[in-house]
Amino acid sequence: MIEKMELLDVDELIEEFESMTKNAENVQRDTLKKILEENGSAEYLQNLGLNGRTDPESFKACVPLVTHNDLEPYIQRIVDGSSSPILTGKPITTISLSSGTTQGKPKFVPFNEELMETTLQIYRTSFAFRNREFPIENGKALQFIYSSKQSQTKGGLIAGTATTNVFRNSQFKNAMNAMQSQCCSPDEVIFGPDFHQSLYCHLLCGLIFREEIQFVSSTFSHSIVHAFRTFEQVWEELCADIREGVLTSRITYPSVRSAMAKLLKPNPELGDLIHEKCSGLNNWYGLIPELFPKAKYIYGIMTGSMEPYLKKLRHYAGGLPLLSADYGSSEGWIGANVNPSVPPELATYVVLPNIGYFEFIPLKENVEEYPKPVGLTEVKVGEEYEIIITSFAGLYRYRLGDVVKVTSFHNSSPELKFVCRRNLMLTINIDKNTEKDLQLAVEAASQVNAEEKLEVLDFSSHVDLSTDPGHYVIFWEINGEVGDEVLKECCNCLDRSFVDAGYVSSRKVNAISPLELRVVRKGTFQNILDHYVGLGAALSQFKTPRCVGPRNREVLQILCDNVVKSYLSTAF
Ligand code: AMP
Repeated sequence: MIEKMELLDVDELIEEFESMTKNAENVQRDTLKKILEENGSAEYLQNLGLNGRTDPESFKACVPLVTHNDLEPYIQRIVDGSSSPILTGKPITTISLSSGTTQGKPKFVPFNEELMETTLQIYRTSFAFRNREFPIENGKALQFIYSSKQSQTKGGLIAGTATTNVFRNSQFKNAMNAMQSQCCSPDEVIFGPDFHQSLYCHLLCGLIFREEIQFVSSTFSHSIVHAFRTFEQVWEELCADIREGVLTSRITYPSVRSAMAKLLKPNPELGDLIHEKCSGLNNWYGLIPELFPKAKYIYGIMTGSMEPYLKKLRHYAGGLPLLSADYGSSEGWIGANVNPSVPPELATYVVLPNIGYFEFIPLKENVEEYPKPVGLTEVKVGEEYEIIITSFAGLYRYRLGDVVKVTSFHNSSPELKFVCRRNLMLTINIDKNTEKDLQLAVEAASQVNAEEKLEVLDFSSHVDLSTDPGHYVIFWEINGEVGDEVLKECCNCLDRSFVDAGYVSSRKVNAISPLELRVVRKGTFQNILDHYVGLGAALSQFKTPRCVGPRNREVLQILCDNVVKSYLSTAF
């Protein structure tokens, strides 16, 4: 039982947030001062000639804008075990592997207690707003969270994905309890060595505690869709396990088996009930509320590269609200969703001015040659920016690579809409298409023939320069039997949907060859996920790479090896 005392004071949290965002400019100054004072002895800052100054003007004059590439030599020395203060005053003992699915390899970023604290602050803030509109009762959460193994770098530091570092931190569980959000699965499942087995057990735990489940969540919503797609395959096995009280032999790890044995007792009524409920569904519509009658909502990051999964998520959710979670990265948190009832497509994130120092490069101007960042309170509504982070974990004026749009202000702190990752671009000559452009094209093309039950399960893209001139290749994994004529039309529609002037004009004069739609075998994107998990990425942070570059050979190979049909556009 949770004592009432331990629960968060939602009103107080909201009040703190309101007062901080009313005073965003001063809070930003104080935050920068704090970061620079705590880390003034770090070699990186010492070499930049700040000489103890902590004001934004001196900071901007002395410290350059950097990318991960620029910091790599410093981070590498930390990873290799150097104990001198390199990027932070206090030594870094833990490293996060960012999912890195865009570059084809994980990249290292520092993690520390201050970053953990800001993570919990974001969790608490958005919980306060969420709980005001969608109060939950004492119960449990079905959370599809997976904590891959932490390893040791050769310099003796602990390394894991950011979510792993957070889930394994001793404060995490207490924080979840205070938010009445404790996971229904035992630690052995969350920390299990094989995510396929953990996923099965998460589902089983959810069913065992079905009457107590208050919400269903994961870090990125892809994991929720993935979980219920898996459920469609294994539901009868799950029912059998519950009826007999014996765990399927597919779960082989002894620690996971013994933890599950403590929860699983023969319960023929429950097994039959779930069987009956599943059999009564029409194409799995409304599966989640059917299985978890007390669930109030579904929660996870649903914006950006997660948007393409919303349709499927809504299908499983029936009438349950979908609440998009906060905005952050392995490098640091940025903003909280304080309007949880807004549909995920419109979700925005209010920047918390005390969790880092933020700057924004206006994208209207010529960014590459002469980027002129502005401060948090200087941004303009309606404009797009690239976001720059200065964190408590040793990153100073770090270009995160995300593009955001300012939609409004909450008091004096901006509300951001996530637009896309900057470097995810389809480009051959003068054409420029972002991840968002690709997503819109795929959406349009998948609706070409509404009567055909065409469901695009997942997609990616590639610029193929082996033809002359080069052309865009779009990979689709689809559900259902779809005829050649329809797919040909989809291919034409994709080609027409990239409306960037550079693309259209290049296509018209054949400076870019016809777009190619390649349909891949069922399970191809699962193979890609497995590939990344094999490289040490956590399922919790997985994002399908939407554009596969030539250096990402393995993923390109998986896609190309699984092509079953291909179509060339005749749209131009
Ligand atoms: P990771 O490298 O795994 O830490 O992922 C961080 C990246 O995920 C960010 O830089 C964003 O591109 C993306 N991301 C994180 N939160 C959100 C969000 N709420 N909406 C859209 N994209 C997000």
